[in-house]
Amino acid sequence: MEHTTTTAPAPTPALGFPEKLMPIGGVWVPSSTGTTITVSNPATEQPIAEVPSATVQDGLAALDAACSAQDAWAATPARERADILARTYQGIIDRRDEFAALITAEMGKTLPEAQAEVDYGAGFFRWFAESAGRLHLEGQYGLEPGGNYRIAVSKRPVGPALLITPWNFPLAMGARKIAPALAAGCTTVLKPAELTPLTSLLLAQVMEEAGVPAGVVNVITTNDSRGVVGAIMADPRIRKISFTGSTQVGRALLRQAAENVMNTSMELGGNAPLIVFDDADLDQAVDGAIVAKLRNGGQSCVGANRIYLQSGIAEQFTQRFTEKMAATRVGDGAEPGVELGPLVDAKQVASVSALVTDAVAKGATLLTGGTIQEGAGYYYPPTVLTNIPADADIRTEEIFGPVAAIYTFDTEDEAITEANDTPYGLASYVFTQNLSRALRVADAIEAGMTGINRGLVSNPAAPFGGTNQSGLHREGGTEGLDAYQETKYTGIQL
Ligand code: NAD
Repeated sequence: MEHTTTTAPAPTPALGFPEKLMPIGGVWVPSSTGTTITVSNPATEQPIAEVPSATVQDGLAALDAACSAQDAWAATPARERADILARTYQGIIDRRDEFAALITAEMGKTLPEAQAEVDYGAGFFRWFAESAGRLHLEGQYGLEPGGNYRIAVSKRPVGPALLITPWNFPLAMGARKIAPALAAGCTTVLKPAELTPLTSLLLAQVMEEAGVPAGVVNVITTNDSRGVVGAIMADPRIRKISFTGSTQVGRALLRQAAENVMNTSMELGGNAPLIVFDDADLDQAVDGAIVAKLRNGGQSCVGANRIYLQSGIAEQFTQRFTEKMAATRVGDGAEPGVELGPLVDAKQVASVSALVTDAVAKGATLLTGGTIQEGAGYYYPPTVLTNIPADADIRTEEIFGPVAAIYTFDTEDEAITEANDTPYGLASYVFTQNLSRALRVADAIEAGMTGINRGLVSNPAAPFGGTNQSGLHREGGTEGLDAYQETKYTGIQL
């Protein structure tokens, strides 16, 4: 495998928002110390833009703005909130190419994947616009079982929400939080990952144009996440934290949230099994595994981390899958025809490479890939490993790169036991033409999500999230809105 070498780097996309500024309380401001973060393109390692590096003071200013705007936003009629979300959906779609170019430039995924992320991310605004309109009609009213008085149950916004997102889906991860928060009547402070803050700033610009009032969406970009987030979370006025990122940081935030007994939603790491049975449609299974492995360069929490093949099809599957992996065109994601972009940074390349080196040193067989090419850009080739020994780190760690770890099994029970042998429980995939087996195995796997005969399950209309150490609560679906609401019960004696 060789990655394509560009003769001239792709031009830096237009930012579409004021550089070195962030929106706090409806005004685009610099960091209080004037310091900035340089954002670079992982395909070229060249700088693209600078964004402010918010201080604790800036973070608290964003919190003040969100708190000042909270009552008026909660009192804004649901239909008006829904209309703003619908206009945001349209605003993103109208600027689809601009968003996609920015996502590719700051994160590295290919342009078609970035466009797919734009549609997926925008979809959350459409979905929650549709939900927001009927929000206050949902509830219960009725006699308590003893017949003595009435029970009324309604929902209200939980309050100002702190939203923290990772770098792998720069638009979708924020959209999945902001849209339901606003639909429910919560104001927000969004803290995107420092590697990919540009898309969030463009989103804030589009939301402003869609009519979001000042203070309802504040964005802080910072390279002092621990300090700034810590200060905001120590303030009892913030009532909700929704975090997507690593289990390790999620744990630390849960500890901080305990202090003020804050409402928490956690979307954390994964270690998804993908199981292919002998009776699977092999074309479907190979294609599904390629999607589940290579989407986002493998840098996805729902990426197929462990591929289990039943012994009858193992050889055939491995051969076809490996051929496809080896034929994948790697290069700058902005170039037409490229199927796999760079990883997000040098640290990510080092961590993926360390897992492969460890497995091979312990005796795993390398079927393709595994060698880093010289040159600019954080590239790692599509790689396939088999015969992975029991003590290899790759068996238990989240790979987060284009490396497929293949294992074999004989019986259904064995596959289920292996699949569940992890503290995580986010996504899982099952390929079989036997419907009973598909549903039986899906039920038996401890994971928040299972794809049957498909390698992609994310959808704004479906509840996304994990069990065990993969997180708490769901995003999207009807559950996504519940995460930003409190339940209010009123006992009524007539
Ligand atoms: P990360 O945990 O390092 O960072 C996530 C966010 O938290 C970033 O904005 C970062 O700046 C911030 N952060 C880091 N340390 C912090 C601290 N001490 N206090 C407050 N904020 C802090 O994760 P990452 O490397 O950006 O993303 C990769 C991880 O995210 C993977 O484990 C992946 O599985 C997970 N992920 C999960 C989902 C999901 O929905 N479950 C989706 C995407 C990614």
